[in-house]
Amino acid sequence: MSFTAPIFHTLSAAFALASTACTSLSAQPEPSPTPARSSQVTPVEEHGALSVSGVHIVDESGAPVSFAGPSFFWSTTGWGQERFYNAEAVRFFAEDWNAKIVRAALAAEREGSYLTDPKANEARAYTIVDAAIENGLYVVVDWHSHRAEENVEEAVGFFQKLATRYGDTPNLIYEIYNEPLDTTDWASVVKPYSETVIQAIREIDPDNLIVVGTQSWDQDVDKAADDPIIGYDNLVYAVHFYAGSHKDALRAKAQYAIDKGLPLMATEWGTVNYDGDGEVDRTSTLAWLKLLQDNSISHMNWAVSDATEGAAMFVKGAPADGGWTEDHLSESGLFVRDIMRGWGTESLPEE
Ligand code: MG
Repeated sequence: MSFTAPIFHTLSAAFALASTACTSLSAQPEPSPTPARSSQVTPVEEHGALSVSGVHIVDESGAPVSFAGPSFFWSTTGWGQERFYNAEAVRFFAEDWNAKIVRAALAAEREGSYLTDPKANEARAYTIVDAAIENGLYVVVDWHSHRAEENVEEAVGFFQKLATRYGDTPNLIYEIYNEPLDTTDWASVVKPYSETVIQAIREIDPDNLIVVGTQSWDQDVDKAADDPIIGYDNLVYAVHFYAGSHKDALRAKAQYAIDKGLPLMATEWGTVNYDGDGEVDRTSTLAWLKLLQDNSISHMNWAVSDATEGAAMFVKGAPADGGWTEDHLSESGLFVRDIMRGWGTESLPEE
């Protein structure tokens, strides 16, 4: 998403929302959440190394796969949400939410990001990757910037370090550009940037998936479908949606890209508006989930955060290290936990 939105959800408003919504999901009090992991076999033990085959991401047996999980918030030092970058949070998402993939959003713009505080931000990303490996999850490491072409050297340096450290594990997925702006042209800026970073990664790691960002905050997947990057294996393209703002028009664009054979991953999506705030749009979210399910597309929800905005999974002051009960979850968090727990069972939550 874009920068943290202006705060207009008060804590009491958040509680009011949480207590009045989700009637179909939480009408019955839930005594104590039982661990939701569907099997004792971890996702990576079950599926092994991922690759691209046609329009699909497939596992080691060649079967299309679709995973659900959370996206951590900006890793930025001093923004407050970096406290969630810990191993216990990852373990709890795996065991209690049935997450099979997680996304670390390595902040790469503005003060406190990797650009000004590289060691601390890098350590946060590594913490998530190490915990994902420990728990047998897939893990996306995202260069969280809207202007990545301004820092190509830093991006190449970081991804080469990441490839050296984790490129021989089946867990790692590179995401090389979070969200190019609408004014950042695909053909002349985003694509050449991507080719430079992809080549640098492939010098070290020949095979792990690489997610390529697309113009207009990862909405113009049609442009990438018409003019894809050629010459490299295992490339997938990011489509991001915020269900309250992005509806049939963006779903049609995604379907166009799919029909043209472009492999997609929803590395970031929200139940609310494009600015990360506003009310949960259950109807649009469910329409998106149907599209993702029908096309075996993996997705990561924004965000692991207790900021006072609609997209935050948690209410203010929730613990950073797992153990979350319903009382810690926002309206969006409750809905997303339900989605994640059921993902892969062919059943979607009711509206
Ligand atoms: Mg590799």
